Amino acid sequence: MQIQEKKTYQAVIGLEFHVHLATQTKIFCSCRVTYGEEPNTHTCPVCLGHPGALPVLNEKAVELGVMAGLALNCEVAPRAVFARKNYFYPDLPKGYQISQYDAPICTSGYLDVPTTEGPIRIGITRLHLEEDAAKNVHVGTSGRMHGSIGSLIDFNRGGTPLIEIVTEPDVPSPEAARATANHLKAILQSIGVSEVDMEKGQLRCDANVSIRKPDGAFGTKTELKNMNSFRFIERGLARELERQRNTLEAGGSVEQATIHYDPTTDEVHELRSKEYAHDYRYFPEPDLLPLELTEGWIHKIRTRLPELPEQRMTRFVEQYGLSEYDAGVLTANTELATFYEKVSERADPKQAANWVSGELRARLNEAGVSISESKVEPGHLIELINLLKRGTVSRSAAKDVLNIVFETGDFPATIVEREGLASMGGDELSRMVDEVVAANPNEAERVRAGDKKVIGFLVGQVMKATRGNADGGRVRQFLLERLNG
Ligand code: ADP
Ligand code: ZN
Ligand code: MG
Repeated sequence: MQIQEKKTYQAVIGLEFHVHLATQTKIFCSCRVTYGEEPNTHTCPVCLGHPGALPVLNEKAVELGVMAGLALNCEVAPRAVFARKNYFYPDLPKGYQISQYDAPICTSGYLDVPTTEGPIRIGITRLHLEEDAAKNVHVGTSGRMHGSIGSLIDFNRGGTPLIEIVTEPDVPSPEAARATANHLKAILQSIGVSEVDMEKGQLRCDANVSIRKPDGAFGTKTELKNMNSFRFIERGLARELERQRNTLEAGGSVEQATIHYDPTTDEVHELRSKEYAHDYRYFPEPDLLPLELTEGWIHKIRTRLPELPEQRMTRFVEQYGLSEYDAGVLTANTELATFYEKVSERADPKQAANWVSGELRARLNEAGVSISESKVEPGHLIELINLLKRGTVSRSAAKDVLNIVFETGDFPATIVEREGLASMGGDELSRMVDEVVAANPNEAERVRAGDKKVIGFLVGQVMKATRGNADGGRVRQFLLERLNG
């Protein structure tokens, strides 16, 4: 991973995340929070913005927001104030969004993001609570406003509780931006404050970016809005950095702007609108009291904070003897980490780590599904690892078996039986070893004379002869017995 831009210019990136909280009901009314249901079926005068309807704060949203803040090492404010952020948009019938402005609920935290070059610390400026707007559904082929024949509004989303998390401009590269987003997602997921399902729009990211001469003054920033894929955040930022560099090198200057990144063409376009804080005419929300959280209440939340990914990673290293890297890969995804722990209860922990973070994770990524959405259960992997350990299947056959488990959900032993994937038995293997030794007299002689390196070649020949249907370790042992015995 390239963490630092090694060019004449340095990248300066700050991220803003919007994350849906996992409450049953909306932040200021008792309508249920839902996804993918019939539009406009979970609404009431409050979340439809009828005049005179009064908001009532959902305590659970405050709890989850504070829990997120604590997990990000933030200070929890003794007093937080809701504010009206005024703007007109069809998905915002009140004409303002209830948010927090100069007195957010959490401030001054940080996040240690693991990268291949060691952790980097990203400061968290603030975390505040707000309501989501309704959802515009643009009718037409593209799904975007441009080129659509009209727009409809689904108010089911309006009033969904959100936290907005703003980082310091500490992110040094597009790769690090992606790693930061991934790590944040893992943390929020592991403490259960949000499912962070990107498909459901539960996490959205705005990326602010500028370039500067190494350690010089900050340049003018532009903003990539509403990125809902971490891969696109990385690619969009890379393209935008390139555009800014080219602009400066051509003697121009970067203008403050909102940038649209189009993943289909991999291009960035400058949009001309940029709002400033004063455009919103923020003022304290008169319909809600300031939030005054007591030390006792905050302490209670702190004690309920589950194990964080970093802590889990340290535990994996100690408890299972994994490398920090493997432990990091596993704990970056809560679901995968939990799955791994179940497998390790009844299979060798190191083998389990290899399979879960290697082959299994690769299959999941290819298919674009999470472990719970796949057909693979811990029991499948336990059986597979143990078949491998007993030498019933070879490593390469085990990979084929996993592919079939992935497709069918059948159990490994059944698959091995059905597909005839069992390793070659002793007699047959022994015969193959004899054949290979006979066909390669020079190499065999060198092994007899003590040249250990050549044994690898002979193992390879036997594996080839068995079409990979043998256990490499066992083949090696057979060869050594034959040649040194
Ligand atoms: P705005 O007033 O435009 O919203 P903020 O100061 O609130 O700007 O910062 C918004 C985000 O932009 C934060 O994540 C911050 O870290 C980041 N940011 C601020 N200045 C820069 C800069 N010069 N280059 C890149 N990111 C920046
Ligand atoms: Zn409602
Ligand atoms: Mg701002």
